Formats: sequence, structure tokens, C-alpha cells
Amino acid sequence: MTTDNIGGSVQVSVLGLGAMGSALSSALVKAGYETTVWNRSPGKADGLVAQGARAAGTAGEAVGAGGVVIACLLDHGSVREVLDPLAGELAGRVLINVTTTTPAESRELAAWAADAGIAYLDGGIMAVPPMIGHPGSSILYSGSADAFDQYKPLLDVWGTSTYFGEDAGLAPLYDLALLAGMYVMFAGFMHGAAMVAPAGVTARQFAAMAAPWLTAMTGAFEGFAAVIDGGDYTVEGQQSLVFSSLGDLLAASSDQGISTDVPAMVQRLIQHQIDAGHGEEGFARIIESIKQPG
Ligand code: NDP
Repeated sequence: MTTDNIGGSVQVSVLGLGAMGSALSSALVKAGYETTVWNRSPGKADGLVAQGARAAGTAGEAVGAGGVVIACLLDHGSVREVLDPLAGELAGRVLINVTTTTPAESRELAAWAADAGIAYLDGGIMAVPPMIGHPGSSILYSGSADAFDQYKPLLDVWGTSTYFGEDAGLAPLYDLALLAGMYVMFAGFMHGAAMVAPAGVTARQFAAMAAPWLTAMTGAFEGFAAVIDGGDYTVEGQQSLVFSSLGDLLAASSDQGISTDVPAMVQRLIQHQIDAGHGEEGFARIIESIKQPG
């Protein structure tokens, strides 16, 4: 039986047993937490019950088990749908919502929770279900500092826990900003794979080249960040925007008969700064095209 840092056994109720809710619940059971689980559709709790969890027939019954409540549902709408009728039961308790939401939605949930007297902690999961409880899993939190401090040992069962502050919107903001980087990088990889495919190169062969290349290129982030934070894009040693022009890359893509959508997006950001008279300044300046669209 796991005990928390204020003494006594820790009761946890998890609402939502999709792929992620099941992984979170399983890790808690394995770590010795007294875990009550609930899912809208029946049948998903069976494997967890076999591991030692208790299944509740309704969300109200799960919340009624006492202790901290974890929501891992599909989206903001499903969280409100499940929790709205339970606000009275949750008053004076801690709610940790790891459902993916926008910053605005998280702030809206935090305001709803504050009105109901619920301590609210928002979580953004930077992992896929098989990673939960294993190295590399990271979860970002914001909202109630007291809730984060009290339940940190529980949160650490799932992965590295990082807290950003009382504004509940901060964790989802970081979460979605990191995903923005990931998706655009993935699109860049797909573009490269599509480029070499007509030459008979398989995606697997290309991946073997792209992974170490892109990993090495992340080393440039720190230098870009120093320039951006310093606000001076004329600092010596930077690759200029004119030099960074993607004309050859776009022409080669067209010659291969593929879409130019992905590099053309980057080229537009570069061209916007060149047109504004900043062609000799550093590549990091494209962030100004993003910060001030149009
Ligand atoms: P799933 O699609 O596997 O599960 C969704 C869960 O939400 C199910 O338990 C489903 O119940 C429940 N649900 C949906 N709508 C309602 C509703 N109106 N009322 C009650 N329950 C509802 O998703 P995941 O478990 O993968 O994801 C859960 C959350 O975790 C999402 O917000 C997701 O973005 C986030 N996340 C997931 C990651 C992943 O890799 N899977 C990674 C990072 C974050 P039912 O079984 O009845 O349909």
C-alpha cells in the first residue's frame, strides 16, 4: 500500500480508460496505489481489475471512492460532460486533468473548478501509452501548486513531472508548442522521403540518414535562441536569409514531381523578411514572420 507525504494510504480514481487512461491506471496499480477506475463503455476495466484496481459502475461512484481524481478523457467537452454533474462531490478535493486541451480550455476548467472549490492541476502528457512509467516519459503541469506538491510522488510514477506555474493554461501551451515543433519536423522528414523515393530510395533507407542528421541539427537551437532572446539578428557568424533561400530545394522537389508545400512554407517565411529589407540578417529572423504574420 502506498502512503502519501501527509500520511495514510493514497486513494486515486481514474476517469477514462482509453489507451492513455489505462496506461496511467496500470502504472498506479503497479506502484501500489489504491486505484478505482471508471470508463463510459463497459469492459475496459477488466484487465486493470485483474491487476488489482477496483472498477466503479459510474463516474460518480469512482469520485465517491474519495482521494485524488484523475481525468483522462477524449477532450474538453467530454471532461465537462463527465465532471459538471460531480462538482459538488469534488468540492474540497484535488482534480488532475491530463486530457489534452487548449490553454483557453484549461483556463476555463480551472475557473469552473475554482467556482466549485476544487483544487485544479492541468497536465500535458509528452509520451505515448507504452512509455508511461518508463524512461523518456514526461508530463507537464500547471495550476494548483499545492496539488502538484502534494501529489508529486504519484505523478512521478508516470514519468518526469515538470511544473510551470499557477496559470493552468501554461502546461497545454508548452505541450502544443512542443507538438508544433514535432509535426513540422515530421513533415520535413516526409518531404525528404518523398523527394528520394523516385530515385528508388526506400523510406527506411532515408530514415537511417535523416535521424542522425536531424538529431545533430537540434544543436542549432541554442544559438538561434541566443540570437532571438538578444533581439539582434545582425550578429556575426549567422547564416544569412539570402544564403538560406530554398530555391534549389524547391526546384529539385518540382523536378522529382512532388509537392513543394512543405519547403514553400519555410521559403515564404524567409522571403517575407528579405522583402522587408533584412536579407543579410540571420536565419533566426524568420521567427519575426511568424510572430507578426502579414
Ligand atoms: P482514447 O480514444 O483511447 O480514449 C478516449 C477516452 O475518452 C475513452 O475512455 C472514452 O470512453 C472517453 N470518452 C470520450 N468521450 C467521452 C464522453 N463524452 N464521456 C465519457 N467518456 C468519454 O484516447 P487516449 O486514451 O489515447 O487519450 C486520452 C487523452 O490523453 C486525450 O486527451 C489525448 O489527447 C491524451 N493523450 C494521448 C496520447 C496517446 O498517445 N494516446 C498522448 C498524449 C496525450 P469510451 O471507451 O466509452 O469511448
